[in-house]
Amino acid sequence: MSVERTLVLIKPDGVARGLTGTILSRVEAKGYKLVELKLVNATRELLERHYEEHVGKPFYEPLVEFMLSGPTAAAVFEGQRVIEGFRSLAGTTEPTAAAPGTIRGDFGRDWGLKVQQNLVHGSDSPESAEREIAIWFG
Ligand code: GDP
Ligand code: MG
Repeated sequence: MSVERTLVLIKPDGVARGLTGTILSRVEAKGYKLVELKLVNATRELLERHYEEHVGKPFYEPLVEFMLSGPTAAAVFEGQRVIEGFRSLAGTTEPTAAAPGTIRGDFGRDWGLKVQQNLVHGSDSPESAEREIAIWFG
């Protein structure tokens, strides 16, 4: 298995709650290497590209509005099997159900909103990672 890269986003809820450092530390503490990092005010156009697989789904518009609500911290982490490793560390999509010990399980909850505010995004395959890193880092 070769060294991979993955896009990690700390979504606007994570940044607004002051969890950026805590979340980045957990990924670094697992042993992955931080290779890119910046704060981004995402545009609708960028988000349309990033979330193209979800266009037309019921949660798409609330998701975009949420992602436009404040800055996102965008990072690239590197390591063996980092794509799978980060998604395991993030926990399942719905924070209420995410296992304790995961980022979403430890810091997330249901806020009764139209979109799941679940703190982080991680690429789900090598192809997604390449596409998403190009979108956020050019
Ligand atoms: P992820 O890969 O675990 O982030 O999940 P997806 O790629 O399936 O969805 C992207 C994002 O859309 C998720 O992280 C959630 O913020 C949101 N989302 C996904 N599915 C749902 C849903 O069924 N309902 C709501 N309200 N939000 C969702
Ligand atoms: Mg996804």
